[in-house]
Amino acid sequence: MQSVKWNEGLFTPSKIICVGRNYAAHIAELNNETPTNMVLFAKPNSAITDSLNSEHLGEALHFETELCFLVKNKQLAAVGLGLDLTKRGLQSTLKEKGLPWERAKAFNGSALFTEFVVVNSNLHYQFSLKIDGKDTQLGDTKLMLHNAEQILAEISEFMDLEDGDIIMTGTPEGVGKVVANSTFAVTLMDGQQELLSHQWQAL
Ligand code: ZN
Repeated sequence: MQSVKWNEGLFTPSKIICVGRNYAAHIAELNNETPTNMVLFAKPNSAITDSLNSEHLGEALHFETELCFLVKNKQLAAVGLGLDLTKRGLQSTLKEKGLPWERAKAFNGSALFTEFVVVNSNLHYQFSLKIDGKDTQLGDTKLMLHNAEQILAEISEFMDLEDGDIIMTGTPEGVGKVVANSTFAVTLMDGQQELLSHQWQAL
């Protein structure tokens, strides 16, 4: 089983629950409809990795940078950043056919996480992804259609969240293909204060 790091120690998520279509500008860039119900899907523990791969079994991978919360005692306890890697071509085919997304979203190596830090009181954050120094994705909790507390409440209505489970809150606009040898640098901010940063080198 894979683990993620928080300053309280290592946590082993039993599952990762992801929100789809949570930023209006990203819905527009993929030509998706704005859903009336929250779009949720899951990744298993086996999706977690520290290696940022540009492909999996010959298929190109696309990145989505997301604000992530680690759950403890059924609450949002810690915050970090994650990459939700996606086989975009396959996902489009599955969507068209009305089929589940796991083959495009839940494969080995499809979830990367920074370390986590304890949450602040208002749960407002900003985050960014730079690829090779170039601003690529900018996120802000103010732009989310569903906030973190709403997401936690909605998931908890039908699924128990265990200590260490992670919620990925959806991606802002600017998604694209992972290019081998590029450097991904993510930063999490609380206003002017940098909470954490992390780099991955794409393989
Ligand atoms: Zn995502």
